[in-house]
Amino acid sequence: MSAWKFLRHATHTLFISGVRLRCPHCHQGRIFATPFEIAPTCATCHVRFERMSGESLGGLMFSMTLLPIVSIGGFFVGELIVGLPRSLNIGFWLGFILCSVGLMYRHSRALWIGISYLSGGVYADAPTAPTDDLRQRVKHAFHTAHPKPEE
Ligand SMILES: [Zn+2]
Repeated sequence: MSAWKFLRHATHTLFISGVRLRCPHCHQGRIFATPFEIAPTCATCHVRFERMSGESLGGLMFSMTLLPIVSIGGFFVGELIVGLPRSLNIGFWLGFILCSVGLMYRHSRALWIGISYLSGGVYADAPTAPTDDLRQRVKHAFHTAHPKPEE
């Protein structure tokens, strides 16, 4: 895959998972089973979204990093350029941070799942080992199709 194709694929995948909250693999299944709970697997393609519980909480790292930068920048713009009263300026940006964390919670986690998918961390579980009964039936079918040569 060329770098340009990968970039397009990555952007599309991150958009699908981070904005639409859909499975990064099939783009159909919903990532969240409830408003705040991630489904263990995709209902459509059965990929497992998180290998360990809470794994996608790393996505909050984005919002927790980005929000203070935006807020501090906005505070200084409000203070130095617009000339807002300090208490109003601080109150506005604190409210902005609190509201944004709540609003971005689902999208941050879903975006992290998209990144995990692009790095190979989101995939379907391996099929379970065949049961003894299935093993016996396969063995019987094999020996029926390939009988031992008579001596
Ligand atoms: Zn899926």
